[in-house]
Amino acid sequence: MKSKHSKQQARILAISNNKGGVGKTTSTINLGAALAQIAGPVLLVDADPQANLSISLGLGTECQPNLYTALHQGKLEPVTITPGLDVIPSHLDLTAAEIELAGEAGREQVLKELLELVTDKYSYILIDTPPSLGLLTINALTAAQEVFIPLQAQYLAVQGLQKLLDLIGKIKRRINPGLELGGVFITQYDSRKILNRDVSEGIQEALAGKVLHSRIADNVALAEAPARGQDIFRYQAKSKGAQDYLALAQEIHKLKH
Ligand code: ADP
Ligand code: MG
Repeated sequence: MKSKHSKQQARILAISNNKGGVGKTTSTINLGAALAQIAGPVLLVDADPQANLSISLGLGTECQPNLYTALHQGKLEPVTITPGLDVIPSHLDLTAAEIELAGEAGREQVLKELLELVTDKYSYILIDTPPSLGLLTINALTAAQEVFIPLQAQYLAVQGLQKLLDLIGKIKRRINPGLELGGVFITQYDSRKILNRDVSEGIQEALAGKVLHSRIADNVALAEAPARGQDIFRYQAKSKGAQDYLALAQEIHKLKH
């Protein structure tokens, strides 16, 4: 089975939004876990020094090796969470990486080079990014083929997004010509709130053609799962949150298949 597919490369997705609390980490974990079910092995990369993704999967903030050691040593040693779902954990030291990398030649390409070492082992690689547009986010956007942006259907959700869209444009022009805006998806959606409905229509207008059909509802199981160190499919496979992330994964998977 191996020979024909062994040279296949992973589809690399950055999950990004310079605003915090919009669902980047929740989406990286659960979209990743869903893609692992429908498409084969997935690698999650925790590129946020706050290490929320690593903590949410029960790994804590002091994992060795981690993304920081990988950036320094030029080798990647993923941790297996469940069969088919691996993680490169973050570490609080990663904060220093932004400063340490700043003086290096090719500083935007370090993560891209690392992921090239393992891209034939995975169907998907998902990169969780910090809520800022610094060098770690730039590395994620340089390594990725597509960016997906989680948005909350709230007033001002689109404000500040232009900065991210400008950065995506710059990286596409200067470093990573293949980079695409894969899509924007709405998270923590509550259809009972009229504001949510109105804003969601506003987002459709502002980002015409780029808003995915699948929406992630506000669902308490999604907020509880990290306390158990589990993705939503292990924590509550029948929850609305699990159904929503599976639908989103199917929609994203179909964009390229
Ligand atoms: P970010 O990574 O963008 O900062 P998170 O994924 O950490 O955002 O989400 C922020 C908070 O909202 C977390 O406490 C998370 O558990 C919660 N949360 C995220 N998505 C949902 C959802 N769909 N329903 C309920 N709670 C959610
Ligand atoms: Mg986060």
